Amino acid sequence: MKNRALVWLESLFAFLFPARCRCCGEELGWTRYRYICEGCWSEVKPVPRPVCRICGRPGASICRDCVLDRPPFDKARSALLYEGAVETAIHLLKFERKRVMGRFLAELLIEWAPLEEFEDAELVVPMPLSKKRLAERGFNQVDPLAEAVSGEMGLPLRKDVLLKGRETPPQSLFQGREERISNVRGAFEVGNAEAVRGRIVLLVDDVFTTGATASEAAGELLRAGAAKVYILTLARAGV
Ligand SMILES: [Zn+2]
Ligand SMILES: [Zn+2]
Repeated sequence: MKNRALVWLESLFAFLFPARCRCCGEELGWTRYRYICEGCWSEVKPVPRPVCRICGRPGASICRDCVLDRPPFDKARSALLYEGAVETAIHLLKFERKRVMGRFLAELLIEWAPLEEFEDAELVVPMPLSKKRLAERGFNQVDPLAEAVSGEMGLPLRKDVLLKGRETPPQSLFQGREERISNVRGAFEVGNAEAVRGRIVLLVDDVFTTGATASEAAGELLRAGAAKVYILTLARAGV
């Protein structure tokens, strides 16, 4: 049982500094949710099913894009739609360095990701940042997501496997798929081919938009000898 003085101090603290929603700043009050308010919570939406069995886009069992130009990864899945509170939380983490959002988003990912579709994966790899971007931001926003997946699935987490050798302008500056593909072409390198040779790699990222980044990174892992590459992202944009 907790020390009475400690319980009293906690109540006083909660009274003086009421918890606020990390997304919109509303006072949380009495809620069963942590981090965000019920209003923001209602904006958290899972990716509707069924999805394309390759790229994970909601709709047909295999989408037109995947028929015409099959991506190098085996399959991609996302937990939630990139909108509302999920979009806000990712922005707060990436651009305002609100590290607490990493824990929140990792919890959402574990709750909503179809991890059962990746049962035969053998290692978890976070989508890397370039050294320059990592130095600027101070952390890779994908790390808490990849760490949570690795812990939940009991798989090794390998941050040394895939590296981003070259800094690229943010993909958000480019609308078209072709522009996005050329923006990231040649940006990745495999730092440890031994770790991926003959293995099924689960590559974790924050947002899947056109799949250009995922395709480029997956292609590099396959060239280094990976047996298959799966993509798991927290959110899916442009649905
Ligand atoms: Zn809120
Ligand atoms: Zn598809």
